[in-house]
Amino acid sequence: MKRSLRTQMLFQYVVIVIICMLVIPAGISKLLDRQFRLFTSDRLREDQQEAVRILEDSYALQGRWDMTALAGLRGDILRWPMVHAALYDTEGTLIAEFRRPMRHGAMRGPAMNSGRDERGFAVPGRGELVMNELPVSYGGRPVGTVRFLCLPFVESREGIFLRKFNSHMKYAIGGMLIIAVIISFVMADLISRPVLNVSKMASLIGKGRYRADEGLKSNITELQTLIDSIKRLGLGLEEQEELRKRLMSDIAHELRNPLAIIKSHLEAFEDGVWEPTEERLRLTVDEIDRLSRMISEIEKLTSIENAGNGIVLGSADLSDLTGRVAMTYDPLYRSKSVDLKREIEPDVSIAADETKIRQAVENLLSNALRYTDSGGTVTLSLARSDGTAVIKVSDTGIGISEQDLPYIFERFYRTDKSRTRSSGGLGIGLAITRAIVEAHGGNVRAESREGKGSTFTITLPLKRA
Ligand code: ADP
Repeated sequence: MKRSLRTQMLFQYVVIVIICMLVIPAGISKLLDRQFRLFTSDRLREDQQEAVRILEDSYALQGRWDMTALAGLRGDILRWPMVHAALYDTEGTLIAEFRRPMRHGAMRGPAMNSGRDERGFAVPGRGELVMNELPVSYGGRPVGTVRFLCLPFVESREGIFLRKFNSHMKYAIGGMLIIAVIISFVMADLISRPVLNVSKMASLIGKGRYRADEGLKSNITELQTLIDSIKRLGLGLEEQEELRKRLMSDIAHELRNPLAIIKSHLEAFEDGVWEPTEERLRLTVDEIDRLSRMISEIEKLTSIENAGNGIVLGSADLSDLTGRVAMTYDPLYRSKSVDLKREIEPDVSIAADETKIRQAVENLLSNALRYTDSGGTVTLSLARSDGTAVIKVSDTGIGISEQDLPYIFERFYRTDKSRTRSSGGLGIGLAITRAIVEAHGGNVRAESREGKGSTFTITLPLKRA
């Protein structure tokens, strides 16, 4: 059965409170009761023996039972909770009776007078009194017997105290239980409410309200961490949603352009407006090539992103590789009058797929050339640093705005500036670079200042985990 967090916590608190307030006091009360009973039974025995001694002393004074002397002994013989003592001689004849004058209602029922045995001795009634019988002797010879009637433990002072204590304790426990339930309710509410709010916030995010935090805060560290994580999750989802929308429109845009050109060319041929000359047919085929290139780039990216599919590891000499790439790009750079500098540390080797790493570096070098105007400089560097190989491509080109910088590694993301440039690519090169580098356990980042230039840094572990 599912129940709310508040009900669950309330239930737990109440169970704990009941255990603490009922079981523990019940144990204490039981223990007290036992100790008191032991204590009173010992004391009663001592008091009765003392009474016997007093009677023996009285007998010893006269050498017989003296009624006048006995009459004055009541106070000494009857100590609480003794209420009645009867002295018999050895023949069993009643010699004297000592009786405590009872306050009205102090004894439940006329126990002492309700019945007498064959010797005229009061018989305890309805289990209210406890009886004891002790011999009285003089000079080692029995001179009589004394019988005591005592109040049961519950009627003794200790018993009454214990009864009162227990009944007060019951009220106190009842009161504390009510207070504890109220406090438990407040506490359960205090903890469950923010959790409830967090869950509401999460469900709003699930419905697409990505910024549904509504100023939610908690002074419980774990809850605050949860709130922060969910907020970040919401913002991340919002960002992904934005990127998804942009991706769809970018793909549509990228596909529409060549398709529109192809369509217009074919229609022109069909209507006889254009002669299908070799040059015009070439233009049409170029557009088809552009489309196929785009699709093959997407396939390449997907294959690398799928857990590094297609990565073939081998020993890759990065120093040699970067040198060769730079050499390949030299003519292109020279033709655009962009200076390509190299700062390559020798003998840097890692375990990697050389072809893929080369592609990643080439993407950066061709971007640098594409977005750097004539007269600019691009520097390709390679160095070891903290167990990693660091490849950097810095340019003095157009740079990337702060708003665009976080998204340039996304598929089909192109800044507006690059869209307007005739030499723009598909917006997929950096996504491929990132996928390759991450498949090798490394990372790639970009720093840039608009109008000043950009630096792309690839970091690859020297040794693979
Ligand atoms: P593209 O094929 O359009 O260059 P990329 O994925 O390689 O696609 O790059 C994405 C976008 O990042 C580019 O459209 C461009 O706006 C920006 N960019 C990449 N490299 C640079 C650079 N070196 N200088 C300025 N902008 C760059």
